[in-house]
Amino acid sequence: MDPFARAISYLRVSVTDRCDFRCTYCMAEHMTFLPKAELLTLEELDRLCSAFVRMGVQKLRVTGGEPLVRRGIMTFFRAMSRHLETGALKELTLTTNGSQLARHADELAACGVRRVNVSLDTLDAERFAKVTRWGRLPQVLDGLRAARAAGLRVKINTVALRGFNEDELFRLVDWCGAEGHDLTFIEVMPMGEMGEDTRLDQYWPLTELRARLAERFSLIELSERTGGPARYVRLAETGQKIGFITPLTHNFCESCNRVRLTCTGELFMCLGQEDRADLRAPLRRTAEDGPLEQAIREAIARKPKGHDFDYSRKTVAGQMSRHMSHTGG
Ligand code: SAM
Repeated sequence: MDPFARAISYLRVSVTDRCDFRCTYCMAEHMTFLPKAELLTLEELDRLCSAFVRMGVQKLRVTGGEPLVRRGIMTFFRAMSRHLETGALKELTLTTNGSQLARHADELAACGVRRVNVSLDTLDAERFAKVTRWGRLPQVLDGLRAARAAGLRVKINTVALRGFNEDELFRLVDWCGAEGHDLTFIEVMPMGEMGEDTRLDQYWPLTELRARLAERFSLIELSERTGGPARYVRLAETGQKIGFITPLTHNFCESCNRVRLTCTGELFMCLGQEDRADLRAPLRRTAEDGPLEQAIREAIARKPKGHDFDYSRKTVAGQMSRHMSHTGG
């Protein structure tokens, strides 16, 4: 519980800074990744996440970088599944680019994962290669088929990019409808390696996207909240649920139930602020969990009431590309 009586029940954990894609709005093509010693080991991730679960976290979302490129990551999912079995953890899930899903979908399902968020900005193979630089669309579509065959529910996360996928709005909606996937649009944030001109050019406000959607569908506002920066509507004509994530809007801070852990063990208490707590030090200092739990308590006590974000800043709290995980509701 934080000082504003919000129960912190949702932990998003980045398990790696590496990725097999290089989405232009997210990463530079030639990234320098962290030395291995900086990263939490799988055992350390287990210890840390288990401490959070013990202290009240009920929902764990695994992200990255690309979580499924971390070697041995299934060991971590298996370890977390024990908390599902005891009932302490209610949901174990991940956000992925889908490239490795074909290999892992069955095992994820066996570990108790029920839903996955898959990031996909376009259904056009050429555009896909362009925006992800290293990604290939057929591989992701294979992954999606595997996910469905394994019984996983899929939510597609699409970053709204002006002049890039604007003309695919209805195609994406129709495709998700046909495939049975939920769909959420994310407003692009100013990060990654785009020139400033491109960056501004690519900003496609979700208010505008939504208005476009309303030209073809009747949107029924849903009151449901995930505690995160997402709003949902239902399309009356098809029954589909569509989400809108405007991560930098601070309108839901009062119901914010989440914190984020980087792959180096830094805990960020708010998406829009720099304040963080080093949990790796107490984790490595001793095998006892007491100091770690104390550090978690102290960190949660510093969770701010809310944030304002100045869109003209060049980076989002300087931390997004290290552990981006706002998405997916
Ligand atoms: N690799 C995984 C994936 O592709 O979903 C997890 C990490 S990825 C950084 C998480 C999400 O952040 C993806 O949906 C991605 O599109 C989104 N993202 C990355 N950079 C963004 C930006 N500048 N603005 C908005 N969303 C962004």
